[in-house]
Amino acid sequence: MQNANSYKKPVGRILKVAIWVVSIMVIVVLAAFVFQKQIFTFMATKIIQQRLLNPTYKKEDGLYAGLAGTGAPFADINRVGPCIVVEAGNNLYVIDAGPGSARNIGLMGFDMGKVDAILLTHFHSDHIAALGEMMLQRWAGGSNAKPVDVIGPKGVETVVAGFNHAYSLDASYRVAFHGAATVPPSGAGGRARPFDLSSEEDASIVVVDKEGVKITAFKVNHSPAYPAVGYRVDYK
Ligand SMILES: [Zn+2]
Repeated sequence: MQNANSYKKPVGRILKVAIWVVSIMVIVVLAAFVFQKQIFTFMATKIIQQRLLNPTYKKEDGLYAGLAGTGAPFADINRVGPCIVVEAGNNLYVIDAGPGSARNIGLMGFDMGKVDAILLTHFHSDHIAALGEMMLQRWAGGSNAKPVDVIGPKGVETVVAGFNHAYSLDASYRVAFHGAATVPPSGAGGRARPFDLSSEEDASIVVVDKEGVKITAFKVNHSPAYPAVGYRVDYK
């Protein structure tokens, strides 16, 4: 009998442990099933953040595009206004300045201080709202002594002049606080570089041709917003 009891006790313990293990596994599987969407979103976010903070894509010379904003004019908790960052070799361009996108450019690992030019497709507010912030970041972020070029169809000069004026007081505060060596007064704001497309429906014009980067503006119909263009970027 003694032998039988001492044999039963370990079996009872093993059974208890097994029940616990199976119960925990069932709970984990059920939780994974119930929260599958949240788990997927969490893991996808972690992977994307890691890749953005460690941009291995920069190892190879090539043409790359980053979506800093893909939202529409209406408020969206997940998306800011339209903005595409284009990197080609050592050249960096930003296309459109949707609200909220200026901060994403830095968060994505791009150096706003090194931006060669900002290009605008048209002048709806949801494509230009972040222009002031972008021009400020490009100036202060790179201690640039020349204003950034802002390329766009005719009318861009009005937009740039407005933002330059609106940010003129802020620019004076920055110089007073950081000093002219960090933020050279001559580099504040933007310099409009308007282009004019001919009246033909399929009109296009090369607006950037530098170090193997060619950016061509072409007409698009976005009535009543006129003019409106798209940009094609070629590299090497
Ligand atoms: Zn629009």
